[in-house]
Amino acid sequence: MLSSRKCFFLTFVILPLLAFACFRPLSAAARIGYPRTLYKPADIEQARKNISGYDWARETYLRLKESAAYYLPMDRERIRSFIPDRTPLAAIKCPVCGKAPWSYYNLLDEGNVLECVDCKTRWQWDPSDTSETWNIPAVFRYQRMEYMLKGLTAAALVFQIEGDRRYAAKAAIIVERFAEVFKGYRMNMVHRNQWLDRNDPYYAKIAGWKFREMSIVRGVLLAYDLLTGTQPHFLGEQIKVPE
Ligand SMILES: [Zn+2]
Repeated sequence: MLSSRKCFFLTFVILPLLAFACFRPLSAAARIGYPRTLYKPADIEQARKNISGYDWARETYLRLKESAAYYLPMDRERIRSFIPDRTPLAAIKCPVCGKAPWSYYNLLDEGNVLECVDCKTRWQWDPSDTSETWNIPAVFRYQRMEYMLKGLTAAALVFQIEGDRRYAAKAAIIVERFAEVFKGYRMNMVHRNQWLDRNDPYYAKIAGWKFREMSIVRGVLLAYDLLTGTQPHFLGEQIKVPE
């Protein structure tokens, strides 16, 4: 989900922002002890202070907020449609140019078009496709999921920092849909790093490659942590990650 550039952004821009920042909480009333993974309540408070006191922090926060703004016009069904119950797959040989061992694709037109980076062949998203094979629709599904999750951490952070419930509501739809589709997902199986010739409920169900798989899971877990225990409850009670 996260490119190295985004990882850099999170590690060297957002974390320092959270570490050094100053600004009073508005309405994201967090339960004591949450969030508790990468971002702690003290980090969120520090971010608010920095945003309140420094131009660089305000500019950084503005970029963070913009990176999640594409959720706002989307309704629940559209968001959910980007996390289908069919198995996605991060990479497959392009059936036209056969670029091997990996083919790369661009997702265009807000998720409606998939393009082979090498031969520029384009495919149109077909929401009625019910295939469950490792083919172009599977790559399409992965690319669309990645697209839908790329602003997730930012949306949850905007809610924590600013208390903007619109972002929390959108992020919660994604987390809940993810939990619904990938119920029983076990990342330890992914880390056995075995490549299978079939779909399996536990092996690399999301991307087929553990690096990309964990990028997706990390974003969902961070959002879960940032949304859980807040008032009002944005996550359904059925969503529970073992502590
Ligand atoms: Zn191609």
